[in-house]
Parts: sequence; structure tokens; C-alpha cells
Amino acid sequence: MKIGILGGGQLGRMMFQETIGLDLDIHFLDRSRHFPVGKIAQHFFEGDFTNYDDVLQFGLDKDVITIEIERVNVDALEELEQQGKIVHPSPKALRIIQDKGLQKEFYTKNNLPTSDYTIYENAEAVVKAVKAGELSIPFVQKARKDGYDGKGVFVVKHENDLTHLLNGPCLVEELVEIEKELAVIACRNTKNEIVTYDVVEMVFDPEANLVKFLFAPAEISSDIELQCKILAKTLIEKFEISGLLAVEFFLTKAGQVLINEVAPRPHNSGHHTIDASVCSQFENHIRGVAGFPLGNTELYKKGAMVNILGEEGFTGNAKYLGLEDILSLSNVHVHMYGKEITKPKRKMGHINVLGQDRQEIEDKIDKINQFFKVIA
Ligand code: ADP
Repeated sequence: MKIGILGGGQLGRMMFQETIGLDLDIHFLDRSRHFPVGKIAQHFFEGDFTNYDDVLQFGLDKDVITIEIERVNVDALEELEQQGKIVHPSPKALRIIQDKGLQKEFYTKNNLPTSDYTIYENAEAVVKAVKAGELSIPFVQKARKDGYDGKGVFVVKHENDLTHLLNGPCLVEELVEIEKELAVIACRNTKNEIVTYDVVEMVFDPEANLVKFLFAPAEISSDIELQCKILAKTLIEKFEISGLLAVEFFLTKAGQVLINEVAPRPHNSGHHTIDASVCSQFENHIRGVAGFPLGNTELYKKGAMVNILGEEGFTGNAKYLGLEDILSLSNVHVHMYGKEITKPKRKMGHINVLGQDRQEIEDKIDKINQFFKVIA
């Protein structure tokens, strides 16, 4: 079986790394061999996954085609599907997920809980709605397409913010009072077998208001945990997705679970599973799309994941500072993505920390933040 993956970034790299033992025939498509996958995978095709011809050409001699990024050319995937190729996630699901407006409509159509929203043509229409008294500040404006890592999300708190709205088709959501941000990764195979990983919570630094680390299992009631897992299972079935579906939730201060957004691929909230779970999210994605039985998602231990971002003030060839200091810590696993160039806040890798006890894990994270830096 020949498997083709669109995208050659860190998610593709970890899919390759985590399935080497299965000795599969995996091929990648991305613009440059210098990207994280190119350094380790033998079968790398240089091309643009947003280009119709490149995706079609790449897919024609593959049996199964999947993705590590959503922003791919869906028309070409549709054509490949029509030609009898197995494509996961399906082009139909991908079209909905690529557009935050269609995602929201999908949730409301299926009676699934999400925050209230309205779709607008552009920024001018949003301003008009405010002026007409149809929309009141505060609210959250989101670009319908191509947002990631908070780019494409704008929180409008004051009238002055209206001059800085995002351009283009967008949606506006109510500003949710968030108690915790949670995520669940579900996996389904072509035989409709479904598994879910434990709920993960984002832990914020209260001073910087930035995500400090992700922690699994989330410290929430069993009722909330069950609601999140059931919603993730319902979503993966309704989208008819094989492979992974990561679902991000808001737990509101009033105790409600709301779906924020989904991603049909490996996700940041599952990076700890490489070391903390019996079968990682990356291996399960490949198992799911290839029609294999799914692996055990159980956690061996509590686990945290810290993103390693390029240090502020440094742009250029990446150098790791303090690697030896953190390698001396037990149950700390370093996963750098092999990116040649570092830039401020660029995701350069992640570190998983395992332990029996949350405090012990947090102490190690403090040491990582203190000693480990990516500079140029
Ligand atoms: P992205 O696709 O870039 O990850 P998200 O939709 O996940 O964008 O939003 C990024 C972050 O913005 C969320 O993790 C959350 O902290 C905040 N956010 C998004 N939507 C809302 C909302 N409706 N109310 C309050 N905060 C929100």
C-alpha cells in the first residue's frame, strides 16, 4: 500500500517517525526538502499542496492520500477520490473544516453545542452591524479561512478596535467566559472503530496570558470528561472521518462544554502521546487512514507538553542552548523538528514531561523554560 501525505512539516515528520516500525511505503509532498520531513523521509516530492496539478500528480500513483495540514487543494483531492483513490479526511469533510463559517453551520445543523455566531461578508459589514445596534462589543472576529495559532482571530473589546478588524469573509462569535480550554483527539478507521484519547487542558501563565503547557489528563469532573469524549465521537462519525479528528472545546465559567473548532489531522494537543500513551496520535492517524485496527490510547503516566518557540531577538540558523541541562532530567523527552532557521515565536519543537504528580511535572517545566532556548 502506497500512502501519500500532503505536507512536510513537523506533523508529517512525527507521523513518519512514529510509524517507521511498521515499514510502510510513505511519500510526502511539500515545497522543499529542507522542511522537517525532507531530512528524514526517503520519498519526498517537491511541489505545492495548494496547487491542483501538483496534488493530482502526486496522488495518481498512491493508494491512500492523507494530510498533515488543512490548507490543501481540495478540488484535486475530489478528483483523486473520483478516480478511486482512498482520501482521508474526505474532501467533503475537509471543505467544511477549511471554512470556520461552514464549521459553525455544521455544529448548529447537527444540534451540537457551540458559541453563538453570525457570518459577515467583510469588515465593513461588521462595522455596519455595530453601528445599526445589531452587534454589540465585546465580540470575537474570526477569518473564515486560513487562520492558525491565533492568527485570524481578533478580540474586539473597544470601539477603537473596529478600525483594526480582519479583512475578508469572517464570522463573529460571542466572547465566551472561559474557565478552561480543553481538547480531545478521536480516531476512527475505515471499519468505523473509534477510540478517543484522554481530555487535555491548556494551562495558561496568568501573568503573560500565554499557554504555558498542555496537560493530560485534564483536571475536570468525570461528567465534563464524558461530555467532551462523546462530542468528539459524535463529530468524527458525523464528519465520517477516518484518521484523527482533534476537537477543541471551551469549558465555560457556567460549566457548559462548547465546541470551538476541529482539525482532521494530528494536533498540538496530542504531542504528549508519543511518550505518554501506548499508541501515539501519529501512529493512530496512519492506522486509521490505512484501515488497520486502532492502537490503545491509554496513558502510561500523567503527561505535559511544552512548545519550544524560537527565542525573541534571534533570527537565523537555529542553535540549541541548554540541551544537556534538560537531558539530565528524568522522564523528559525532547522532540525538535529539525527546522534550520529560527525566528521569534516560531514552533521549533516540543518537550514532553511525564510524572506521577502534577507538581513534579511543573517543576521540570520551570527548569526547561529557564535553561532551554533556541537562538541563532
Ligand atoms: P486558531 O484556529 O487560530 O487556533 P481559535 O478559534 O482556536 O483559533 O482561537 C484562538 C484562541 O482565541 C482560543 O484558544 C481562545 O483562547 C480564544 N478564543 C477564540 N474564540 C473565542 C471566543 N468565542 N471567546 C473567547 N475566546 C475565544
